[in-house]
Amino acid sequence: MEERELKGLQIAAKAKLQRSDDGYRWFVPSQTEGCNNTYIVKPDPAKPHCTCPDFTARQLRCKHIYAAEIVVRREYADDGETQTYTETVTVKQTYRQEWSAYNAAQVNEKDEFQRLLHELCKGVGEPSQPMGRPRLPLEDMIFAATFKVYSTVSGRRFMSDLRDSHAKGHISKLPCYNSIFNYFEDEMLTPHLKMLIEESSLPLQTVESAFAVDSSGFSTCRFVQWVQAKHHDPKLLEAREWVKVHLMCGVKTNVVTAVEITDRHSGDCPQFKGLVETTGQNFTMAEVSADKAYLSTDNLQTVVDHNAMPYIPFKSNSVAERTQNRPNAALWRRMFHFYSFNQERFMQSYHKRSNVETTFHMIKAKFGDSLRSRTKTAQINEALCKVLAHNICCLIQSMFELEIKPEFWADENA
Ligand SMILES: [Zn+2]
Repeated sequence: MEERELKGLQIAAKAKLQRSDDGYRWFVPSQTEGCNNTYIVKPDPAKPHCTCPDFTARQLRCKHIYAAEIVVRREYADDGETQTYTETVTVKQTYRQEWSAYNAAQVNEKDEFQRLLHELCKGVGEPSQPMGRPRLPLEDMIFAATFKVYSTVSGRRFMSDLRDSHAKGHISKLPCYNSIFNYFEDEMLTPHLKMLIEESSLPLQTVESAFAVDSSGFSTCRFVQWVQAKHHDPKLLEAREWVKVHLMCGVKTNVVTAVEITDRHSGDCPQFKGLVETTGQNFTMAEVSADKAYLSTDNLQTVVDHNAMPYIPFKSNSVAERTQNRPNAALWRRMFHFYSFNQERFMQSYHKRSNVETTFHMIKAKFGDSLRSRTKTAQINEALCKVLAHNICCLIQSMFELEIKPEFWADENA
């Protein structure tokens, strides 16, 4: 990939390109620090044009034209072309080789993690003081709990990390190590953690348009793995406590955009709608992929209602006619025919679903696939902390690879 093309990709990822009323021109802000110029781009495939000095001098594609072309492709991603697929592959391959950016992200991760987590926690706000016990600031509790999960070390060993955070002003009071365990027990943390997971995905709004859904279990025993239990030894499912995490993620950065937690017996299918709706509030969705466990007319309809294309495979016993008399039968038939007669196109989008498995793998590999907590509430909060820590790591990676500068709580500051 040429350097201008790469810069174009970065502009498309982080800047908001405005389209002219007639639809043929795009206004692209200058990327030069302190320069408020806006260049006018005509991404005409035959004769592209830009008003910037680079294009004026060379009469060849500049980074602004590349940026506009990427945005145009993203906008038309669901019109039957496979451009999004091409784009995704290009992004991954290019950036996987960007070792300097990758290394920079790794080297700075722990510092950046604390800074971003602190910024996120600042938006939590303090609930009114409950009667009786004086409580610690909620944002300190969430910071300590999430940073603890990120560090993956025991409570005692975590204290030197937390002292460091306190010295940097990320928390207002330094708690003693055994009170951190109690934080996980607080039911009040659960809705806040979910909100922070959503908020932490927002800086990637301009990057993600394709999403995937799946679920996976987290064991309360360190020696039992979900895949082993689910597919090879169902007795293990009964013998241990499990927490099941249902999530939706963007397929480019693996950022989690919505999450639900249930017990191990809950089915996957009913969780789908809520995940799509939460993501739909924050992202413009072009496509949603999920495996056949999620197939239902309601789920197909939910995706279509968000102007996105569902890529959920039909089962071998699915038939076009079976649902003739049910509501949404027409949608079911349309999707069934698309699935049956456009297998190649279907698969080009459906293959992106594997990114949600990658997401679970990233979370489990980095923060462990078992939970330390003993009670249900604490297990749920601990699992949510893993997802939040994962999202912050995705953001750090995007900061170095896509030059995104994450800012949170934009509406509150506006
Ligand atoms: Zn230009």
